[in-house]
Amino acid sequence: MSTSPRGTRRAIFPSSVSRPVVSPIQPSVVYASPDPDTLDAQYEGRAKGYTYAREAHPNADTLTTLLNQAEGASHGIVTGSGMAAITAALLGNVKSGEHVIGADQLYGRSLRLLTEDLPRFGIETSTFDPTDKTAFEAALRPNTRLILIETTSNPTLRVADIDGVISVARARGILVVVDNTFATPRGLQPLDHNADIVVHSVTKLLAGHSDATLGYAGTRDAEIGERMSLLMQTMGLTASPFDCWLAERGLYSFDMRYDRATETAARLADSLSATPGVRRVLYPTRPDHPDHNRAMSLLQGEGGHMVSFEIAPTRAAANAFVRAAEGLAFAPTLGDIATTISHPATSSHRGLTPDARAHLGLSEGFFRVSVGCEDPDWLIQTFNTAIAAASGA
Ligand code: PLP
Repeated sequence: MSTSPRGTRRAIFPSSVSRPVVSPIQPSVVYASPDPDTLDAQYEGRAKGYTYAREAHPNADTLTTLLNQAEGASHGIVTGSGMAAITAALLGNVKSGEHVIGADQLYGRSLRLLTEDLPRFGIETSTFDPTDKTAFEAALRPNTRLILIETTSNPTLRVADIDGVISVARARGILVVVDNTFATPRGLQPLDHNADIVVHSVTKLLAGHSDATLGYAGTRDAEIGERMSLLMQTMGLTASPFDCWLAERGLYSFDMRYDRATETAARLADSLSATPGVRRVLYPTRPDHPDHNRAMSLLQGEGGHMVSFEIAPTRAAANAFVRAAEGLAFAPTLGDIATTISHPATSSHRGLTPDARAHLGLSEGFFRVSVGCEDPDWLIQTFNTAIAAASGA
């Protein structure tokens, strides 16, 4: 006798007079409609109903609603990665023959999308220094359609002249896309500064636990939102329901994690700058940072959870530091609940020529730290111990 459930496959909801307090994970790929009339109504937007998960699903919609609220957006998409969100924002809004300008210190893959991939589709691209409004004016061409900048750059934590650049772009009808991954909406909300689109690697601090790969793009413009959504559906940039569910859970503790990590990062930056063996520290709100004044006004005096610093510029010192930093993951990511350390020379910036790395000041002794939520005293002690070990190497 067959033991498989009989008849049409259906979701089963055991009866309960009480409601769950946690959103359910809904992995269904397809949704059954009652009849063709209803399906018509769904496709024509007269009735709300899911059809196929690549196009939309409840967990993505729930996460999108929360991220729209965080960024003050009215239309948004969540995608299978931060790069998918950047792809939707760019490819959804530019066409062959147009010109896209990107910041010169963009995340490596974004830079690659700009310099290697978009040109293959007949889109002109170039880069500029986003801390300098006049550099942007000089980079403009008659066919410039869109610019992509990051609020705070990786790994030197330069703060873009968001207001200056956006005022120039707006006056010329150029779309502005801001990657707000490092600053997060708690540091700055780009749409309030007149950006057209804000994008995130939700993988990072927003989700916060290094267990979900996701992206987000949000806007206040319905047409832009529709274009990005259609591109996401067509190219299959969709996020998985489980990842969306994990990120939704992570978001509930985001403010607390951000505040704790930011407070500790500021303390760590000050401590590092007073530690023998540390040659320089980069933290946006420190008086010795090149964008200190802008960070104080734009980021409301909060430097965020990332700190970069440099020790002796040798591989031996770098190896000794990492090996002695017990309890800290040496991993090329950021935004985890625990502190992670990355070494740009062997990870994010390994593709650059030695000259290009030197130009950015990324020596063998340069490290980027994503500060987590550990006990700050323990963390500072761990760095002191590791730097002392590196000094003897
Ligand atoms: N933007 C920034 C600033 C990033 O640091 C990253 C990844 O590290 C991305 C975008 C890409 O995000 P994802 O890895 O989720 O595709």
